[in-house]
Amino acid sequence: MKIHDRQYVSGKWAPSASADFLEVTHAATEEPIARVPVGAAEDAEAAVAAAHAAFDGWAATPARRRAEWLQKIADGLAARSEEIARTVTAEVGMPLKLSRRIQAGLPPQVMAMYAKLVQEFAFEERIANSLVVREPVGVAACITPWNYPLHQVVAKVAPALAAGCTVVLKPSEVAPLTAFLLAEVIDATGLPPGVFNLVCGTGPVVGEALARHPEVDMISFTGSTRAGRRVSELAAPAVKRVALELGGKSPSVVLDDADFPKAIRGTLNSCFLNSGQTCTALTRLLVPEPRYAEAAALAIDAARSFAPGDPFDPETRLGPLISDVQRERVRGYIRKGMEEGAELLLGGAEPPAELNRGYFVRPTVFGRVDPKMTIAQEEIFGPVLSIITYRDEDDAVRIANGTIYGLAASVWSKDDARAQRVARRIRAGRVEVNGGPFNVMAPFGGYKQSGHGRELGRFGLEEFLELKSLQLAQ
Ligand code: NAD
Repeated sequence: MKIHDRQYVSGKWAPSASADFLEVTHAATEEPIARVPVGAAEDAEAAVAAAHAAFDGWAATPARRRAEWLQKIADGLAARSEEIARTVTAEVGMPLKLSRRIQAGLPPQVMAMYAKLVQEFAFEERIANSLVVREPVGVAACITPWNYPLHQVVAKVAPALAAGCTVVLKPSEVAPLTAFLLAEVIDATGLPPGVFNLVCGTGPVVGEALARHPEVDMISFTGSTRAGRRVSELAAPAVKRVALELGGKSPSVVLDDADFPKAIRGTLNSCFLNSGQTCTALTRLLVPEPRYAEAAALAIDAARSFAPGDPFDPETRLGPLISDVQRERVRGYIRKGMEEGAELLLGGAEPPAELNRGYFVRPTVFGRVDPKMTIAQEEIFGPVLSIITYRDEDDAVRIANGTIYGLAASVWSKDDARAQRVARRIRAGRVEVNGGPFNVMAPFGGYKQSGHGRELGRFGLEEFLELKSLQLAQ
């Protein structure tokens, strides 16, 4: 068992102010695999003080030099990618093949992208007699969830450091191990002390201490809408900048002229990715009413290919969920769907018969789901698909937009122009057109209660910058 008993503050591994620790469990065996410190508010204090002290020096470091550090961190992460993939597969449960590509593949890619981007970025521009300069916001507190633990950390830490901000990271206490690995990589690069600090702990203690701390200038938060709302409240008295990446209930709109087998396979692949624990998961399949039977048969077929199993087995496509809490939450939603009258086409709330340990949930498909039902409105974060029918294009758009969320969506049609037209009507921050792939240079973030602010590409960098205009005498 791996023991982490220190926090990373001011370039040193220091004992936590609290003697408590948390156990991290293996998602497929339920056995403890590591211990991490549960930080106290004093740890958050110390980390903010270190970040504050380091700010002037780091902000004054030329972007070209900051880029060199970022590239070193990217190389350090790439060198440990197999360890990252295996760690995330154990703590989160994502099948190893996918973990290698996504959980381990994306972080060095995003870090290296910012190393390059920050050198090309125009930090200054002249507008008539004004010189507009972009300066780092200050001390950034980054609070992250467990589902893509290192990717979500890097999507904040990379642009924050690139911008010239200093950072206090509070990773998810449920999947914290790769944040420690990142701190080790950063430590090995010799980044100046205090530029990056890691405090592991729970949301209500360390997270809230950061959100209300007067010397934190910005909170970049990814997680549930509930916790995001709380962070905003705590940040409000000091009028701190807050960027929120929250939940989703993303629709996949299959238009009547779409390639149905392709569209439905694509939707299931997204819905069941990481066992449904993906904020952009396409969890609502919208199909034309007359084509319901055909769509349901295709969805059942596609879902059947996701047999749950050992995430370290190369054949497995569906791993366990992250924890017993999450498993019970998802089973509760499945029961709710049945109570509210949705048709259970596949799966169900009972555990998969052949797996007697691990946080597994059956791949589940509901048909004839009414858009008002709980399972069509709330984020489930498990392998559960809801099939909803619509009358015409307007009705499809209305249903697609009919939740409190607006993170992602997908539109499928043989006619690209038509798909794009519908995509523009959907109130969401990212819409895939006919399965267009993920792009780290494009903005990522939500409309409505999916949050505000954007990550990735230059948009992610701009989040961590203030604008100043120098009014020059003529
Ligand atoms: P969560 O909100 O429980 O926790 C996220 C982080 O916030 C953790 O580090 C947690 O310790 C911290 N936290 C919790 N309560 C807090 C509080 N009162 N004050 C300060 N910090 C607090 O979410 P989770 O269960 O870890 O992650 C799942 C959620 O994250 C889902 O809703 C999912 O949609 C969302 N998510 C969103 C995105 C996105 O980019 N939009 C990406 C991934 C996950």
